[in-house]
Amino acid sequence: MHAVDIIAKKRDGVELSREEIEFFVQGYTRGEIPDYQAAAWLMAVCLRGMTDREIHDLTLTMAYSGDVLDLKDIVPFAVDKHSTGGVGDKVSLVVAPLVAACGLPVAKMTGRGLGFSGGTVDKLESIPGYRADLSVAEFKAQLEEIGIVLTGQSADLAPADRKLYALRDVTATVESIPLIVGSIMSKKLAAGADGIVLDVKMGNGAFMKTLEDAEALAQAMVHLGGQAGRRVVALISDMNQPLGWAVGNALEVREAINTLHEGGPADLREHCLVVAAEMLALGNKATDTSEALTLASETLASGAAWRKFRELVEAQGGDVRYVDEPARLPQARLIEPVPAPRGGYLVSVNAAEVGKAVVELGGGREEINDPIDHSVGVLVHHKVGDSVQKGTPLFTVHANDETKLAAARERVLAAHTFSDTPVQQLPLFYRRVAG
Ligand code: URA
Repeated sequence: MHAVDIIAKKRDGVELSREEIEFFVQGYTRGEIPDYQAAAWLMAVCLRGMTDREIHDLTLTMAYSGDVLDLKDIVPFAVDKHSTGGVGDKVSLVVAPLVAACGLPVAKMTGRGLGFSGGTVDKLESIPGYRADLSVAEFKAQLEEIGIVLTGQSADLAPADRKLYALRDVTATVESIPLIVGSIMSKKLAAGADGIVLDVKMGNGAFMKTLEDAEALAQAMVHLGGQAGRRVVALISDMNQPLGWAVGNALEVREAINTLHEGGPADLREHCLVVAAEMLALGNKATDTSEALTLASETLASGAAWRKFRELVEAQGGDVRYVDEPARLPQARLIEPVPAPRGGYLVSVNAAEVGKAVVELGGGREEINDPIDHSVGVLVHHKVGDSVQKGTPLFTVHANDETKLAAARERVLAAHTFSDTPVQQLPLFYRRVAG
């Protein structure tokens, strides 16, 4: 077999065999196929697409490029959740301890932020001492002991994805449904959870800009998970405005802690309860999602989810004083509330623009190894559809540099648009896709 023939076949829209996909992906992962050939192949996949069978073979080849965890000897049923990436998305910080507190083990390997969408590992590292580099043995031991793990992705998990994703990032080949399915599902399958809830974001702050694309992605991932013997449900949720109020690492941890104490923004709380209910139903902790929603709400109200979060932080080496007193979390030097320049109904709080403003403040990264400032960020004070009075606080910038603060102020101001006539609120969820 020759890499060039496989590239040509895909270029001409011909279906690849399993052997050809394995040859290409394994060869690239081992360094036998060079970047320039892999880049050409990725672009051909992007333009020509893949059949269901090809997506299945691609995903399994990527999953089996490294360790595939079997958690069966540790817990009878483990659940995971995955968001396709958004702005202000701190759902995992609330949902993972909430579900674990209901007695369903949560085994989650999670990523760092890249571009304008945040990453759970970065958020957790706002807590001094928190270790997100657990070994597979530590991962399993902690899952068995306290029923929850939230760590960074092990180096041995789906190494094909790490290489391919880095190449996609610089060759304009991220936005391809077969490649996104392969990337996300290979990691989920390798991490070993039996039940997976996918939070597929749709909107200006997401990879998927339209409901049609989001639905196609959700269908493909649910289908593939089923073929691989996992129980998978996808929720298509809105990412046209930030989720909750806080965008920025320590600010989001603080908001998640408030939510675990039953405070926090209403949209975030509801979003978390719905995702938790889906996970609980998958794990048979309730007969249906409405019973699961009641269980999740009661568990949140009981304080058990908050205690589980504290247990998680302690188990992973984090200083729990920061969880008990979130005011200790990193604080920016400059905190500036910005007043509404006019009154009216909010038409948009553009999530992508708010996310970019936070990256420019230093809260995100352009390259995967860039350092980040956990203290900076933006708190938005309103949602689309709100009636806002001129001169009242519209958002607050947390910065450590005057020039960056001014740039963020302008960008976030422009992200807010107004109308004189009433505007409909955005829904939290659009659709549910189940196998
Ligand atoms: N998240 C991933 O892990 N991979 C993709 O391709 C897109 C989003």
